[in-house]
Amino acid sequence: MSFDAGENTFRPIVGIDLGTTNSAIAHIRDGRPEIIPSPRGDRITPSVVMIDLDGKVAVGEEARASLVAMPDRTVAAVKRKMGTGEPLSIAGQALLPEEISALILKELKRYADAALGEGEMEAVITVPAYFTDEQRRATKRAGELAGFAVERIINEPTAAALAYGLEHLDDHAHVLVYDLGGGTFDVSVCELMGGVLEVQASTGNRQLGGEDFDWRLVDMFADRMIAEHGVDPRLDIRARALLKEEAERVKKRLSAEATVSVSLPLVTVKDNRPVGLHIAMSREEFETLIDDLLEETMESVRKVLADARLTAGDVDEILLVGGSTRIVRVQSLMQAFFGRAARMDINPDEAVALGAAVQAGLKSGALSASGLVVTDVAPFSMGIAVLRHMSGRSVKPGAFSVIIPRNSTIPVTKSERYYTALPGQTQVAIEIYQGENEWVKYNHSLGEFLLEGIPENQEEAEAIQVQFRYNLNGILDVSATSVSNGQSMRLIVQDALKRDSQEAFEESRQRIDSLSQSAPAVDEEDLDDDWLEGSDLDDDEDWEEGLDDEDLEDSELDDEDVGGSGSGR
Ligand code: AMP
Repeated sequence: MSFDAGENTFRPIVGIDLGTTNSAIAHIRDGRPEIIPSPRGDRITPSVVMIDLDGKVAVGEEARASLVAMPDRTVAAVKRKMGTGEPLSIAGQALLPEEISALILKELKRYADAALGEGEMEAVITVPAYFTDEQRRATKRAGELAGFAVERIINEPTAAALAYGLEHLDDHAHVLVYDLGGGTFDVSVCELMGGVLEVQASTGNRQLGGEDFDWRLVDMFADRMIAEHGVDPRLDIRARALLKEEAERVKKRLSAEATVSVSLPLVTVKDNRPVGLHIAMSREEFETLIDDLLEETMESVRKVLADARLTAGDVDEILLVGGSTRIVRVQSLMQAFFGRAARMDINPDEAVALGAAVQAGLKSGALSASGLVVTDVAPFSMGIAVLRHMSGRSVKPGAFSVIIPRNSTIPVTKSERYYTALPGQTQVAIEIYQGENEWVKYNHSLGEFLLEGIPENQEEAEAIQVQFRYNLNGILDVSATSVSNGQSMRLIVQDALKRDSQEAFEESRQRIDSLSQSAPAVDEEDLDDDWLEGSDLDDDEDWEEGLDDEDLEDSELDDEDVGGSGSGR
């Protein structure tokens, strides 16, 4: 079925798959999602950025081709660094991961400008389902730096299911999306019913994908060269890049051929003599090399089914997306597990971008006649650090109290009541975490905020209501209220990316603009309110933790216990 395009009065809005290896941009045309190709006709663009000797930025195929010749001027797989805040060195310059991603997005915007006309453009950008809050924020920021108004960040498997959802609108079905790309793996179960697509469960591994398969091959090549020539080519940066490129070529060809030969006369030099590599590689050998990694993905398939409380037989459709699902062994493992073939009829490289365009179309009104609604799930549990009453009279700080459980349907608002731990306590600083461990130090810190003005009460504990709101962009909004006096202080969530994020955004923008040739400026208004100023919590100022109801009695704390959550951060 197709969608009614309706009236064309909306602002252009595009869907973007910002991938580890490749990226793509799509939009809705005549009621259907469609890839916007580059001016030279490429439908996907390598997510590789290069700064050439003249300081000019190149993105895509040209940059990818420079990986071997100019590895120090080229950055690939930057998605794996998103949200770390760690600058990467490229051509002697330090750029943040989101700045490099912004250069990729700018390239895609160029294609969209050419196809749809220049001007203000909204975007829906996809991320892996398990991306943390920082990673989502970094992605949003990359989009804004590139000049998009980022309308929504959606999970990649949701997008993939949306792309396939076009044909299934009237059905009731459980859809399993297995997405194995260049650097990330995601598996999700979505339920489609009466035009509503709901993600029931999602899991994955952010450090697993085709890149790892390439490196396994590189290691195997290197072992062969060490055995034959006593030289480790991985120590030579150029040889390493050359072998990586060859590994990917071999891997891709093995998806179609049973045996592939490698014949490289010059990989590196030893004692001023060229050292090469000449071997034949069979599909079986390659599959053995990566078998443990593929088995790990199947473990995730079992886990996601358990999370969704389904069996393999309950799954109506299995979708394979991501370039690495072209590996024959992936298809056969899935077939063996589910007892039937998975669908790959939408190009696995394009499904996510096409689905993002569907989401964009739902938002813009271009697909308003479809009747399709999308919900999503929280990829992690979110909550705060509390004290836990242990056996005897001891109390341990740093327990994780979950407010929004993993896989809750979002958008979601949930609140919990906590109590002050000490007599006369007038302020509570709450540490916010996401993760699944019962102790916060093993989870991921999202920031902390301070509630002041709690009535001084020497007799009883004071109740504090903590509210978490998590929206479809994966942005968490936390507030807290002192119940007895209604004191609801403006709570400032520390932006885990940077304290002074607006200033940092400006700096990033300037860095990007100085690099690119034709960088369209981002207006100040485009800065999102979510980029809050960092709170100036005084490190010396001890904060008192909240306590669960059960733990109220017997709270016998010394100063050290009160001061810390136990987190090493
Ligand atoms: P994606 O991130 O979805 O664009 O997937 C990119 C990954 O898919 C890269 O690691 C590619 O090497 C891999 N890939 C693309 N085509 C093939 C193929 N025919 N066989 C195996 N892997 C492939």
